[in-house]
Amino acid sequence: MYIAKGGVLSGGEGASWASAAEEGAAVAAAEGAAAAAAERPQRALRKCSMCPSIEHTARTCPRRQPTS
Ligand SMILES: [Zn+2]
Repeated sequence: MYIAKGGVLSGGEGASWASAAEEGAAVAAAEGAAAAAAERPQRALRKCSMCPSIEHTARTCPRRQPTS
């Protein structure tokens, strides 16, 4: 087994990683889809209106006022 262990695996996770090549592809695809969805411009420009950041939108802005 030459799977690089970076401390991510623990407990019984190692066993499932025997087929990590297949599962990894599925996970990568899922993450890739999520990343693509996140990267894709929602409207015109993915920009926060709460602060000057373009890392997120007002919806996910850390400065957003919590509903209280
Ligand atoms: Zn913001």
